[in-house]
Amino acid sequence: MQKRTHLVGEAFLVAPETQVTLMGWVERQRDLGSLVFFRLRDRWGSLQVRVNESENPGAHAIARKLRAEFVVSVTGVIKLRPEDERKDEPGGDRELVPEGIEILGESKTPPFYITDETPSDDVLRMQYRYLDLRRPPMVRIMEIRHRAFFELRRYLDSLGFWEIETPILTKSTPEGARDYLVPSRIQPGKFYALPQSPQLLKQTLMIAGTDRYFQLSRCFRDEDLRADRQPEFTQLDLEMSFVTRDELFEVGEGSMAHIFKETLGVEVKRPFPVYTYDEVMSRFGADKPDIRYGCEIHDFSDAFAKTEFRIFAKVLDAGGAVKGIFVPEVKPSRKEEDELDAFVRKRGGGGVALLRVQDGEPTGALAKFVDAERLESMREIAGETGDGTFMLMAGEPISLLPVLGQLRVHISEAFSVPKAEGFHFCWVVDFPLYEPDEETGEPVPMHHAFTSPLEEDIPLLESDPLKVRADSYDLVLNGVELGSGSLRVFEPELQRRILRNLGMTDDEITARFGFLLRAYEYGGPPHRGFALGLDRIIALMVGTSSIRDVIAFPKTTRAQCPLTGAPSDVSGDQLAELGLKTSDDD
Ligand code: ASP
Repeated sequence: MQKRTHLVGEAFLVAPETQVTLMGWVERQRDLGSLVFFRLRDRWGSLQVRVNESENPGAHAIARKLRAEFVVSVTGVIKLRPEDERKDEPGGDRELVPEGIEILGESKTPPFYITDETPSDDVLRMQYRYLDLRRPPMVRIMEIRHRAFFELRRYLDSLGFWEIETPILTKSTPEGARDYLVPSRIQPGKFYALPQSPQLLKQTLMIAGTDRYFQLSRCFRDEDLRADRQPEFTQLDLEMSFVTRDELFEVGEGSMAHIFKETLGVEVKRPFPVYTYDEVMSRFGADKPDIRYGCEIHDFSDAFAKTEFRIFAKVLDAGGAVKGIFVPEVKPSRKEEDELDAFVRKRGGGGVALLRVQDGEPTGALAKFVDAERLESMREIAGETGDGTFMLMAGEPISLLPVLGQLRVHISEAFSVPKAEGFHFCWVVDFPLYEPDEETGEPVPMHHAFTSPLEEDIPLLESDPLKVRADSYDLVLNGVELGSGSLRVFEPELQRRILRNLGMTDDEITARFGFLLRAYEYGGPPHRGFALGLDRIIALMVGTSSIRDVIAFPKTTRAQCPLTGAPSDVSGDQLAELGLKTSDDD
């Protein structure tokens, strides 16, 4: 084999008549008889190769044999293409005229073309991932991922952070999902858990005096998967001692701004706005608000005081509310109105009433209940004066909000509501410490059990736990939650109280978390941190809706790897060695 002299991308830049040896994959071979063209592709680009039988019969004979995805070495001279054949793309002004072509590896006909077009069969893409990863859009994604990770490390290092690895074989770290367990051979009947996050160990590092820790850490959660979840994923996991919330936010914002700048050349707007949980729930009906557009939720109860519209009057008399959103410019048809009504009913709402405003006048069924004065008061509440549609719901205030929140997102897509361009981050703070369990109604941590309550709410811990707010926060980008963090509980007794509220006995607390509580008895500093989902951040950066696209070897929603076939059977001997039996053995 010859020595490679240039990458294909480098050959775009050399002077014409330079002698080069390039290596890569063949695409689009076109056999025109005495003339054969193909493109030679590597990670850096692709270049036309022109082989003329009369100039080089040997190379021509080989070129005729080439098929898509053959691996070749081509030695020759870079020539400028005839003026009228030049293309306006990198390397489009030139071609390689070979002196010799060597086939280094042959390829079967690939199951899909290696082009910019994404093959429609996702499982096939994962099964032949090495082919999918050759496609230029995937090369770009992998490059952006690499660059973002590299730049994160560089940025955090410059602030004095250390990257410290925590074990993969560890003890359960509850984050609200099921653990992946690994049996111990040496201690039969005992299991390691794969970390749902490095949470407890990063806390331990703060007790160890590390002060500033981060890790691009792999986390494992055995959950039922949706398209945007993977059983293993990568987080920017970070923890700092002796800092205020604002100081931590500075690092979070700085990290995001740095990687968006260095990988995409995009300046993100800072500081990121900060909203409380209560505020975003009442304004956006969601804890991950998309702040790129308005259509916020307003309370129109006052505007409907003494209304003759029976449905609203009944709800208001019973102490309920009329809430809704105003969508400028949009006027849904009757059919669309029925669809919106079905949409909210499916999500637990009692229905939606529309009031369209056309040329300043209310129209539609609700219009006869809305005179000029009421309309004026509705407009004042919404802060809108133009035409458009009020979408209104009546009921118990708390239960209206999440439905209106979903309606807000739905109409923004269904009616293409204009959104601000680019990347819009915000923080949401002061979440409830606990939420009621869906089945039992008992308190379960909204974030995780190591999150500190707001100091002023600590007295409510036992008497009214669901009222306690946490010193916690989420980072949200364009309506997508990137991750969460909090001030940690660094006093062992407070930690015990929080865990007792989850129904744990003191013995259970000691068995599961004794190691952590003991560590805090030896001088635990106040510390806080967060973890941000990097797969999701990269997906937003590159504009794909699936995190699978940004993971080199992802799994299906059945948690399978179509490439390797994992998970797979193991031999009886392996099971015996681990002291395990499967239910099939019984
Ligand atoms: N460990 C948490 C998580 O993975 C984040 C944090 O509190 O730092 O969601």
